Amino acid sequence: MERKFAWTTYTDEDLAKLERIAKDYEKFLDNGKTERECVNQAVAMAEAKGYKPLCAAIEKGEALKPGDCVYVNWMGKAIMMFKMGKQPLEKGLNIVGAHIDSPRMDLKQNPLYEDTGIAYLDTHYYGGIKKYQWVTLPLALHGVVAKKDGELVNVVIGEDPSDPVVGISDLLIHLAADQMGKKASVVIEGEELNVIIGSKPVNDEEAKEPVKEAMLAILKEKYGIEEEDFLSAEIEVVPAGPARDFGLDRSMILGYGHDDRVCAYAQIDSILSIDEVPEKTVCCILADKEEIGSVGATGMTGKYFENAVAELINLEGNYSDLKLRRALAASRMLSCDVSAGYDPNFAGVFERKNSAYIGKGVCFNKYTGSRGKGGSNDANAEYLGSLRKLMEDANVNYQTAELGKVDQGGGGTIAYICAVYGMEVIDSGVAVLSMHAPWEIISKADLYEAVKAYRAFMLNA
Ligand code: MN
Ligand code: MN
Repeated sequence: MERKFAWTTYTDEDLAKLERIAKDYEKFLDNGKTERECVNQAVAMAEAKGYKPLCAAIEKGEALKPGDCVYVNWMGKAIMMFKMGKQPLEKGLNIVGAHIDSPRMDLKQNPLYEDTGIAYLDTHYYGGIKKYQWVTLPLALHGVVAKKDGELVNVVIGEDPSDPVVGISDLLIHLAADQMGKKASVVIEGEELNVIIGSKPVNDEEAKEPVKEAMLAILKEKYGIEEEDFLSAEIEVVPAGPARDFGLDRSMILGYGHDDRVCAYAQIDSILSIDEVPEKTVCCILADKEEIGSVGATGMTGKYFENAVAELINLEGNYSDLKLRRALAASRMLSCDVSAGYDPNFAGVFERKNSAYIGKGVCFNKYTGSRGKGGSNDANAEYLGSLRKLMEDANVNYQTAELGKVDQGGGGTIAYICAVYGMEVIDSGVAVLSMHAPWEIISKADLYEAVKAYRAFMLNA
């Protein structure tokens, strides 16, 4: 079924709201290039709307009542927000969940070295990237250094226009006869993702590694960091510079990390726009580690979400394990993640009837997976039926899609992880061009429709 352009349905009021959201989202991207930075922003936005840390309520043993707003900052890398509904938790929550980690390069634990007068930081890439896309770009360093005394030093280098940037060199075309004959997967190899950070030596003839020493002096002076401190650091190498309006008509946004910060931002904007007391408790989850399989204590397979719901039931009064199980099984969820936008340049990998199109609204993926839906959460038809009505009642422009042609590849999200509890879950998100590239593209209209869809879902599912 052909879907119409969302753009053609907009009033002037819609367009003004759309531009407001797009501008705020661009700022969110600029200040959120790591999962930690996204959590920091989400906490500030939630607190500005009166959300309180759940741990404070737990400590005081305060009962939670309808309309109360709490959040859980989980290890600084994932966050959950809850707005308590009129109905008891046992009746289920309306949940939207996205991830805030994005593909990038992480510094190794012993990253710093000097080779023939150039100082480098060695990296290990994170998530699925085409390595050749990450060379000859201005790159920035974002992250934290955890010192032995417990101090956490924040690092952001390469974003302020007065900052220097760093980057990775590529071989000149004149000498690339062999390289140009290689398969794209090995044109640039993982161990070649070495970031150049300096070339000026200390003025000391005795120095064995004068450029590295000069780098260490700068790190010491600017950040108070010793070489050993890299052992307990998490520094991510990401594209430097701000998100930009894209296209002569400014209809799109070029940015780093639309996957999945566009859905994360749409969720935050929609939950924080709920001023009324919702019928059911609403929940926004922003998870880490999706790009490497949702593993670890901050990935969606960690138990923090289940534990948070248990704490809420406890503060509601009369906790029982059965109530927790009922609450989870009765919940409904949108697993909010980006979808592959149809790209006419690469039409061969898409199936036109079942692709997501830029500008045609929020996208529902009944299933993802690969090789015969392997690893997919396949949403129930009944659930999709109810969502169609919900979206149409709220005037949301939506489309349905799957990830490319059958057997062309595939992917996964956090949907299957929450479906384990027996709740209804479906993937829903925004179509992206150049997904997982340093700079990805989305349509402002799709962002706007995602905000509308997530709000309507939380209030009415
Ligand atoms: Mn994603
Ligand atoms: Mn991804």
